[in-house]
Amino acid sequence: MAIFEYAPAPETVKAPIREQYGLFIDGKWIAPRDGRYFDTVNPATEETLARVAYAGDEDVDRAVRAARKAYDKYWRRMRPADRAKYVYRIARAITERSRELAVLETIDGGKPIKESRDFDIPLSAAHFFYYAGWADKLEWAMRAGEEPNPIGVAGQIVPWNFPLLMAAWKVAPALACGNTIVLKPAETTPLTALALAQIAAEADLPPGVLNVITGDGATGAALVGHPDVDKIAFTGSTEVGKAIQRSTAGSGKRLTLELGGKAAHIVFADAPMDQAIEGIVNGIYFNQGHVCCAGSRLLVEESVHEQIVVRLTDRIQTLRLGDPLDKNTDVGAINSKMQLDKIKELVGSGIDEGAILVQQSCALPERGYFFPASFFTNVQQSHRIAREEIFGPVLSILTFRTPEEAVEKANNTPYGLSAGIWTDKGSKNMYIAQYLRAGVVWCNTFNQFDPSSPFGGFRESGFGREGGVHGLREYLAH
Ligand code: NAP
Ligand code: MG
Repeated sequence: MAIFEYAPAPETVKAPIREQYGLFIDGKWIAPRDGRYFDTVNPATEETLARVAYAGDEDVDRAVRAARKAYDKYWRRMRPADRAKYVYRIARAITERSRELAVLETIDGGKPIKESRDFDIPLSAAHFFYYAGWADKLEWAMRAGEEPNPIGVAGQIVPWNFPLLMAAWKVAPALACGNTIVLKPAETTPLTALALAQIAAEADLPPGVLNVITGDGATGAALVGHPDVDKIAFTGSTEVGKAIQRSTAGSGKRLTLELGGKAAHIVFADAPMDQAIEGIVNGIYFNQGHVCCAGSRLLVEESVHEQIVVRLTDRIQTLRLGDPLDKNTDVGAINSKMQLDKIKELVGSGIDEGAILVQQSCALPERGYFFPASFFTNVQQSHRIAREEIFGPVLSILTFRTPEEAVEKANNTPYGLSAGIWTDKGSKNMYIAQYLRAGVVWCNTFNQFDPSSPFGGFRESGFGREGGVHGLREYLAH
């Protein structure tokens, strides 16, 4: 039940979309060798947006060769201060085209425009600005005796939940350090990566320095397996990450893996409760829960469990689900039919295993892939919904009695990407944080990002860091 209704406020900026996209290799748009294309759709309407080239093995090879040539011919030799100018130009272009890129991200992936406009695109630009500043200061990222040498050709594979941002996290530091790139966006969200290719071309980036090849998992696997790739940077599921680690073992390729998560979000009884409720909402419903570091396992102190459940039940009724292009929308579309089916399957398992489901009661749009904001109470640690990544707007609530139990439950997971703590007491925040096995721990906040701050996982959430000087060092051979 919405408290009051807003008039629709759809974004009016149009994003230019071509009917068909080729592969961006060696600075040119080229057709795939075997002539295969696939459609990318708008998950909120199920309409086809464009036809996109499918890169087969030969195309992957062409892209890697172009990257190698550009590496030897221009990029590794260029004065670092000049390299910085290109990275800076890309940052400027993203800023200048931010409205258009936000629309593109929203229609291709389903996320609310207020998120793509206020989060994805500005943060993508911020990463390019940040790493542009590093390009001629790389010695300052080195330890004694190290030299800031680039690694070579980087194969970069990104998922569909933050398409441009995940590309920016990888492309910006790689360029700043003097590496060349073959970028493979996810099958369902190729459009902003292709726009980035266009931006690179307009910034006069030398041909072959950034190549963008679209396709599916097989395209990614061909890139991983290519003998002339020096480094693989992968963001995606733990399952595929493990396969990549197996296939690159012994090859001498460098590897960073940013994988899945099932973050513990801990709320103590003394937490600032109004803010904590907003933190919980942001932690799980941001980007429909398609967030690797989502606060998807809520651990609440037993004495405030009932209060939190009552407040959360009310709060999710006020979330607005619908047209992602509407500036009032809080919960947009699920990225694909496949992902929607996965969410439904896991939610079904939660019900079957005895957890109690609470959902926002609103009509779902007739077309498109949508799932209401939801949470489960009565969850046991052994339930699949407490252990597996749902990657949707579904929260599992568990309880604890003592700080020790909170820490034990929080760490009882194969993942370790992020965690959150809410308490009024600063010393308790710091004390608990040191025991949490997670790459990022947010205290009295959640989902905060900055290009200068490293991000990455423990255990099955992967290894290597992106962001900050840590992320920079991942692109240097030392
Ligand atoms: P995914 O299936 O692993 O796909 C990720 C990327 O890898 C896509 O570009 C995919 O291509 C490609 N790919 C698929 N199979 C491959 C293979 N065998 N070899 C090489 N590449 C392959 O993951 P997803 O379902 O798209 O993304 C969601 C996952 O990403 C979640 O688990 C989430 O937690 C994780 N994630 C982690 C972070 C982090 O920073 N730790 C950030 C965001 C997301 P296609 O899409 O074309 O199949
Ligand atoms: Mg799409």
